[in-house]
Amino acid sequence: MIDYHLHVVAHADRPMTVDNIMAYLDTARERGLRQMGITEHDRYLDDVDLAAFQEAREKCQDVELRLGIEIDFIPGNEEEMDRVATALPYDYVIGSVHRVGGEEVDRATDLSVYEKYEPYELYEAYYENVRKAALSGRFEVLGHPDLIKIFKRYPDKDITPILEETADAIAESGIVADVNAAGLRKPVGEVYPSRHFLEMLHRRDVPIILSSDAHAPNEVAAGYNTSVPLVHDVGYREVATFENRERGSLPL
Ligand SMILES: [Zn+2]
Ligand SMILES: [Zn+2]
Repeated sequence: MIDYHLHVVAHADRPMTVDNIMAYLDTARERGLRQMGITEHDRYLDDVDLAAFQEAREKCQDVELRLGIEIDFIPGNEEEMDRVATALPYDYVIGSVHRVGGEEVDRATDLSVYEKYEPYELYEAYYENVRKAALSGRFEVLGHPDLIKIFKRYPDKDITPILEETADAIAESGIVADVNAAGLRKPVGEVYPSRHFLEMLHRRDVPIILSSDAHAPNEVAAGYNTSVPLVHDVGYREVATFENRERGSLPL
């Protein structure tokens, strides 16, 4: 098992020291992980301590450590995204859509974007960005593909055609989908992506990673008691892995 999307520095909550990384690895070991990937948000790139990462990787033999980064996909910001994506010797790069029209959709303290758009319009714009992120060719992994459901502001209209179009783009792009259990800790109370969306991805042979999006050591592999049976039930039998931006796999 792997946890390939998590934050040690988180939102500048703690420095990336060997001890802090080891605290995450302790939980990873307890919960039976084979690999753990640290993927800080791009805005905390300067807090990524490569020397501490490498020391922790050598120190911890039983859980293999990987280095990634989570890039906030913003159309028009290509130069900065490319700078971040090549700044460190990553094993993989996650591209995540957090914004519509430049505004964040997952900030509980500022829901103004939900006042500016009709829900269906918001979903259309969100998934347009998801398709762009996937097809941009910049990322190995597409982060939490249906984050827009976070506050349960669902459109009345059926969004199946939007999801089908997006699943087609994801399959065409060759990107790996992040099955991210953080949604279980949010108002929506379900894994990203939904079972409905995940089934569309599986039908198109889109590979997956598993993640918790942990922002604290005790959140490593959190929610796996729900997400692992879900992906298994949908038909997945393996997860993608990465080393030096080369894809491999592990059985589920
Ligand atoms: Zn994210
Ligand atoms: Zn994240």
